[in-house]
Amino acid sequence: MFLPTTKDEMTALGWHELDVILISGDSYIDSPYSGVAVIGKVLQKAGFRVGIIAQPELTTDADISRLGEPTLFWGVTSGTVDSMVANYTATLRKRRSDDFTPGSENNRRPDRAVIAYTNLIKRYFKNSRPIVLGGIEASLRRVTHYDYWTDKLRAPVLFDSKADYLLYGMAETSVVELARAFKEKKSPLSIRGLCYLAKTAPEGYISLPSFEECVFDQIAFTKMYHLFYQNNDPITAKGLAQQKGDRFLVQNPPALTLTQPQLDKIYALTYERDQHPYYEKQGTVKALETIRFSIPTHRGCYGECNFCAIAVHEGRTVASRSENSILAEVKAISRHPKFKGIINDLGGPTANMYAIECAKKLHNGACVDKRCLFPDICPVLKIDHSSQLDLLTKIRLIPGINKVFVGSGIRYDMVLADKQNGLAYLKEIVAHHTSGQLKVAPEHAAPHVLKMMGKPSVGSLLKFKKMFENLTYAVGKDQYLTYYLIAAYPGSSDREMKQLKDFVTNKLHLTPEQVQVFTPTPSTYASVMYYTEKDPFTGETIFVEKNITQKVAQKEMIAKPTASSAQKTQAVKPSNLPHGYANKPRLQRKSR
Ligand code: SF4
Repeated sequence: MFLPTTKDEMTALGWHELDVILISGDSYIDSPYSGVAVIGKVLQKAGFRVGIIAQPELTTDADISRLGEPTLFWGVTSGTVDSMVANYTATLRKRRSDDFTPGSENNRRPDRAVIAYTNLIKRYFKNSRPIVLGGIEASLRRVTHYDYWTDKLRAPVLFDSKADYLLYGMAETSVVELARAFKEKKSPLSIRGLCYLAKTAPEGYISLPSFEECVFDQIAFTKMYHLFYQNNDPITAKGLAQQKGDRFLVQNPPALTLTQPQLDKIYALTYERDQHPYYEKQGTVKALETIRFSIPTHRGCYGECNFCAIAVHEGRTVASRSENSILAEVKAISRHPKFKGIINDLGGPTANMYAIECAKKLHNGACVDKRCLFPDICPVLKIDHSSQLDLLTKIRLIPGINKVFVGSGIRYDMVLADKQNGLAYLKEIVAHHTSGQLKVAPEHAAPHVLKMMGKPSVGSLLKFKKMFENLTYAVGKDQYLTYYLIAAYPGSSDREMKQLKDFVTNKLHLTPEQVQVFTPTPSTYASVMYYTEKDPFTGETIFVEKNITQKVAQKEMIAKPTASSAQKTQAVKPSNLPHGYANKPRLQRKSR
């Protein structure tokens, strides 16, 4: 059942008012891949009456007023992607299309959507119920951050938006606690995952360098980012406070990682896997083609690539669904009237992290002084693909399932590190789960740039390539590896791009098609590098290409030039989806 989007639908449910109204920058797709749909369903399951207004018109009150005013709160999200990433290319040109807007024309998602929607509510509802921000845009702009689109540091978004609260990260438990607190007229201020503004910083909270200090001093900003990043683990994080003027942004410690039973319950909720009929009248949403019959198996990522926001938004701890939960979803999909036998993607931010996590991290929290996969795979992480192997084998035997593709990216260094089951896993992927192309993301080849990215060396890529090609030959299939690469990343000059060109020409033997110009997304280490032109870990000065013509030239050194790539607009590639998907194939890549 869809959540209501009109008064008539509310009336049909016997509801005269709603407890919570959710506003989204995406069209309303009722799918476990849509954060707003998931949050709405979770609140509804907890007993609250919830409605959704998608992509409201900003110039009149026709949309924003159509469900009345909620009794508890408004929830506001930009949608599955930061609105500035959705609306502009890396070369700062307006994108023409948006895969989450009916008809695909990029004309419904405002810039800085959470600010625009908060203003809209405040314009038509004086002394409104509390406004609560959530989703990727709010989450990654919750403290002082570098904003590529204005080329300056911006204050925590609660100061700019004048909303009342912000829930960051995975918010299913926090949002229910918040709704209950409002209903019972209790203070919500101790809820995990909550940010708010206050006159003083709570006792015991870590004081971050203030917004003004960060603007004045890049070293203070780098220090702030380290503290922010280090206090992101649900087990070890302290609360944070950041002053701006005479007020503080207060960030409570993150919500606890969802347990497997909690995750299973969320995915056991029923989703229509379709666009709401109210919005269907406005046109088809392209994203539905990919996400309708895809299945998220887990959340979180410990890859910690420096350009990616997943670790900050979803967390470094991988939370996996049970096999039974995933199999039940596959069976439910097999009965869907529009299902044609193909599951487009079974995956998560990194497909092969499913059911692989560090026991130490689960008990004591993620290490502050080292990473799980970089520069080498931590020996404490026991990599074992057997659960994934079992799952994939069982799914393809379910009646009605003709094909199950793994469309999300695979960490090839993890496959190589699994001496027991890595080869068997890849064999299974090659023989049964590759739709012509398997995506891998080396991103670059120059050692200095790979270090800045936090990515493994190309040696492991070449070993993986050989394995993939041998296995593909053995099963007699016509399929390839697709390589994602980034141009104009901090540390990359023409010299490093020449190294990359040599590598793709002489080792990969191709002219790559999937090359992106780097976009510094908010609250990533890469955006700190881009802004400060320093390595945040050593303080050393690094080269950063900031001239747009030169950025495009870097890309064209290795990619097939298109008709004036610099002027061409691109399709929306949502970068930071909140639920498992994070890099839907062909729609987007991980926060890059
Ligand atoms: S011990 Fe190793 S695998 Fe575990 S959290 Fe620390 S770095 Fe990651």
